[in-house]
Parts: sequence; C-alpha cells; structure tokens
Amino acid sequence: MAKPEELWQCQVPTCGYIYHADKGDKKGKIPPVTRFEDLPEDWKCPLCGAGKHMFKPLA
Ligand SMILES: [Zn+2]
Repeated sequence: MAKPEELWQCQVPTCGYIYHADKGDKKGKIPPVTRFEDLPEDWKCPLCGAGKHMFKPLA
C-alpha cells in the first residue's frame, strides 16, 4: 500500500486524477517508485494536462 504522502491529487474539479508514487505514470514515461517531488517540472496530469502546481497531497 502506498503511504498517503505518496498520493497526489489533481485539483482540477473535473479531473481528480491521483498520482501514485509507487506506480509512476506509464503515459508520461515515469517509472514506478518515483516521488512526486522528483517528477520533471514539465510533467503534466495524464488526464487533463494540468501542471504540477495543480496537485496537492492527499495526506
Ligand atoms: Zn488532472
């Protein structure tokens, strides 16, 4: 199970995508076990295209 601090949710109301640090982001070519903080600055939400600044931790 992922720790809550490894789950980050997209704050776009119509999106709600959750980034799982233990899974990474296959579409964005992010390998599993990549912390949100370690994502490239130009990483975008795979669902709605929002930038990292639109994400908040679920914890
Ligand atoms: Zn999104």
